[in-house]
Amino acid sequence: MDDTIALFRPESDTRFSEKLTPYLAALSQRSAAIREMYRFNPEHETLPANLEVDLLNEKSSSPIFGTVRKYEGQLLVLLSYTCAANCRYCERQDRVGVGLDVEGRLRTEQIDQIVEYIRQDPTIYEVIASGGDPLTNPKGLQYLFARLSEIEHVKVVRIHTRYPLQNPERVRLELMEELARCKPTVYLSLHIDHPDELQPEVIALIQAFRRMGFVMLCQSVFLKGVNDDKETLKRLFLQLFELGVRPYYLYHGQEVTSTRRFVMTLEEEIAIVTALRNELSGLAFPQHVIDIPGASGKVVVPSDHWQSDTALVTDFNSKTVRTRDWSAVPA
Ligand code: SF4
Repeated sequence: MDDTIALFRPESDTRFSEKLTPYLAALSQRSAAIREMYRFNPEHETLPANLEVDLLNEKSSSPIFGTVRKYEGQLLVLLSYTCAANCRYCERQDRVGVGLDVEGRLRTEQIDQIVEYIRQDPTIYEVIASGGDPLTNPKGLQYLFARLSEIEHVKVVRIHTRYPLQNPERVRLELMEELARCKPTVYLSLHIDHPDELQPEVIALIQAFRRMGFVMLCQSVFLKGVNDDKETLKRLFLQLFELGVRPYYLYHGQEVTSTRRFVMTLEEEIAIVTALRNELSGLAFPQHVIDIPGASGKVVVPSDHWQSDTALVTDFNSKTVRTRDWSAVPA
């Protein structure tokens, strides 16, 4: 899945570079959301990427090069620090798109060391291929999955990617079919933030991935100026639901060097999530979570259905009841 990339670096290489595919460049002409997500914004992006930051404790939770281990039973493998395009709100911009691209892909011998680490630890039952974008290292991904298929205690594998939304014409279906057969259960999680990303080419790919047998998931992040309203997210989640893609996480956006303009307050997010819960099927409704900076764990954010103490709860139609006996509170 080699890329043909339209690439622009600002004068200083230490700022998070603009990088997008010809496909996204064309799409950005007709979508304000795509422009906001991918176009370098000199007004807001004035600071160099902070290469020292460890926002999500990933660098300090790396038992072996190219991995992150924060949760029981899981190992994250960062197969590539390259992406087909650079999202302006990327929380890994200390590693992605700041000049690490050339050496940013794990090599076979490094993958061998990771596989050996996994083989020796029978508590690891789930391996997640991430990055950057693991589909920008197709040989590495193919090799990792082939090796994992031999390890009995790894029951589930997962791929996290935005590549199909950024470079849909270059997705190699034969490789994807091979990856889908690695284990009985292979999850494919797409990161999608706006309905404009679900173009006909992308929908066709999602349908093909489903036929291959992937269990399809989607994670999203709140982005001011992109999806900070209920109707946009409702359209997105309903469309995904219809396509057989389960929205599973909706993240609170984090603040790193150039992402400040995208960050919403938790209160703004909670108001939207509460309204969405009132209107969406449970299967179309993702968990609103916050990856607490400097801590570990994706903590579920409570909706406004709960009052400040749990003695009262407000239902989908704004009716408040007592949780002890479920009786209505007089208005
Ligand atoms: S695809 Fe993911 S890792 Fe790559 S730039 Fe976008 S948010 Fe960052």
